Amino acid sequence: MRIGFEIHVQLKTESKLFCPCPTNYWEAEPNSNVCPVCLGLPGSKPHPVNEESIRKALMVALSLGMEVKPKILFLRKHYFYPDLPSGYQRTSTPLAVNGRLGKVRIREIHVEEDPGRYDLKEGLVDFNRSGVSLIEIVTEPDMTSVEEAETFLKDLHLLLTYLGVILNPSVVFRVDANISLEGGERVEIKNINSIESVKKALRYEILRQKRLLESGRGVKRETRHWDEARGVTVSLRVKETEEDYRYMPDPDIPPVSIDPSLVEELRSSLPELPWERKERFVREYGVDRTVADALVRDKALGEFFEEKAGEISPKFWAEFLTSRLKGELNYRGLDFSAVPSKEGVFLIAKAWHDGRITKEAAVELLRKLLDGEIGDVSAEIEKFSVVENVEDVVREVVEAFPEVVEDYRKGKKAAINRLVGEVMKRTRGRADARRVRELLEKLLS
Ligand SMILES: [Zn+2]
Repeated sequence: MRIGFEIHVQLKTESKLFCPCPTNYWEAEPNSNVCPVCLGLPGSKPHPVNEESIRKALMVALSLGMEVKPKILFLRKHYFYPDLPSGYQRTSTPLAVNGRLGKVRIREIHVEEDPGRYDLKEGLVDFNRSGVSLIEIVTEPDMTSVEEAETFLKDLHLLLTYLGVILNPSVVFRVDANISLEGGERVEIKNINSIESVKKALRYEILRQKRLLESGRGVKRETRHWDEARGVTVSLRVKETEEDYRYMPDPDIPPVSIDPSLVEELRSSLPELPWERKERFVREYGVDRTVADALVRDKALGEFFEEKAGEISPKFWAEFLTSRLKGELNYRGLDFSAVPSKEGVFLIAKAWHDGRITKEAAVELLRKLLDGEIGDVSAEIEKFSVVENVEDVVREVVEAFPEVVEDYRKGKKAAINRLVGEVMKRTRGRADARRVRELLEKLLS
């Protein structure tokens, strides 16, 4: 099995690729962020290419280790659809080639303009999105399972998040996936809008192609559409070649030279990338590689870890965040941004770390905090803080229950549970049960 992607990402820029219209298409009134250029009106002339778009596209290319081309051309890609008033989409020749993310080779990156949005049901078109900058990232078909495809898309998403180039966080990707099975032709699935949908579409397509191959009918080369509602792929067209689009250089847009000094400036000022941060966490804080990985996979979580790492044992803190906190968040279907008090999380971890509260109390406090049941975390920690005189209580209990002690000494080892329970009762649960057991065992031996 071979899987490859063409991934479209809208770039975070103030204005569109060839006009000054704003890019917040999803928030604005329909058809309010438009001008003659992005409406494709006859006689309108595009503005010079948006430099911010080129910079952001170059940042992505450089972080993928790609070779940047010295010059790009904008081509007209012709097709007919209501969301494209000019009848062509402007798309660049490759801005950069030959990169890599993990084991997947990146073939090339293009800069393009987004079409508008057409509501097929209502027959209405909104051109707010028309002309927004996109990059298209084309991979080689290097993925050999749905799991590998998912890992790649998640890693790419994380990279784009670190670079800060994503325009609209709720539609990070639009993906065209191509997939071929041994003995079959390549099938392309168009316009899948999330990582979850990519997985579903690939699984569906793998089954469909397997069945065709097993029945001897064969898989023909075609383009299919992912029908999200029905969870199936549907044939769009049987053959598609580059000629169908009648690519031609856009005569309104002169070739764009890529300044080598800009490339060097961007290369040296790239932010810390996820894999670099991971290695630094291992090196600087001594956390395990898998823990460091979990920390960098949520950018805000990793940053919070680092903010407090100087005030607590970093290893303890990292484990607390990635197993305790993450576990409670996953159970509630939340992510880190939903934590009501980040400082409260730290105070709880710190109190446990310093032995002021038990592990059980820490877990309980954390749950209460996430469920919004705690206002003042410090006061709540005070209520849970462990009793100082736990040894006295243990001694009291041993004296108060001679018959249980007798049972234990006669070999009924389970009798100790009764004593532990009594100590917990007398300390109202504020003693560390494991330590109580240890003290009892010592005293009774
Ligand atoms: Zn415009």
